Amino acid sequence: MAHDLVIRGGLIATATDSFVADVGIRNGLIASFGEHLDPGTAEVDARGLHVLPGGVDVHTHLDLDLGGARTADDFESGTAAAACGGITTICDYAWQGKGQSLADTIAAWSVKARGRAHVDYGFHIILSDVTDERIAEIPAIVGAGYPSFKVFTIREFGIGDEALLRVLRAARRAGAIVNVHCENSEMLDLAEKDMIATGRLDPRFYAESRPARAEAEATRRVIDYAEHVDAEVYIVHMSCEGAVDAVRAARKRGVRVWGETRPIYLGLTSERYDPGGLEAAKVIGAPPLRALPDQAALWDALRAGDLQTIGS
Ligand SMILES: [Zn+2]
Repeated sequence: MAHDLVIRGGLIATATDSFVADVGIRNGLIASFGEHLDPGTAEVDARGLHVLPGGVDVHTHLDLDLGGARTADDFESGTAAAACGGITTICDYAWQGKGQSLADTIAAWSVKARGRAHVDYGFHIILSDVTDERIAEIPAIVGAGYPSFKVFTIREFGIGDEALLRVLRAARRAGAIVNVHCENSEMLDLAEKDMIATGRLDPRFYAESRPARAEAEATRRVIDYAEHVDAEVYIVHMSCEGAVDAVRAARKRGVRVWGETRPIYLGLTSERYDPGGLEAAKVIGAPPLRALPDQAALWDALRAGDLQTIGS
């Protein structure tokens, strides 16, 4: 039967295999693989190119105002960029405001996305104000199709360790997963005070302000908390070897923990801060870029399946 579209001669990568072939599309679905498929109504010459399933970017922040800093992309521009990079689904973080219900948080983020997104999208919910009422809302919001929550361990956006434990327990009961930004605030504070005292204020020193050990410590602690209440936990944007070691060891002993890293940690190291000033500021994020051994550990962990996802 004729195809609406034939993608010709690309290197096709599936979950298990890669091979050169034509892909025949009919009614928007893959109908056949093979060599020398009959001409389609439309044709794409993919010789020398990779043909992959659409990617899922599980960690985006679009149209987000952080009080002074605003994301450059909204749902229109961010999802256009995603589509150009082969990403066909994104999961954005709907950020709960102070006193806001979880249902209202989702409603507010839906307004940002509706009619603007070029690809499919879903939402995780960032919990920033955890009260008994919000904890009680978790089962209903999971039932409504939002089984993924994020919390921070850092003071700026965090909810405190006791609330984190309560969220983990409530999520476990509701069958949800908790995504955690892991850094130890006390260790960050100490580094920051030392740097201010010694005048190391230029962005060239940025990596020192958020030591890798602060990430590794919080990762181990969050895993312990998850184990304590038998919760499933997902460590976001891992950047260092110590965090990777913690996830690998926990998975080995059967903890339900998953790990994510980001393209910048796989492609850049902290030497990018060396020029200082605005050049260094362009690659500032939390956690910061790390050293070469950390980067190697991330690649090894991805290859070994100790880390499972890459989110932008
Ligand atoms: Zn995030």
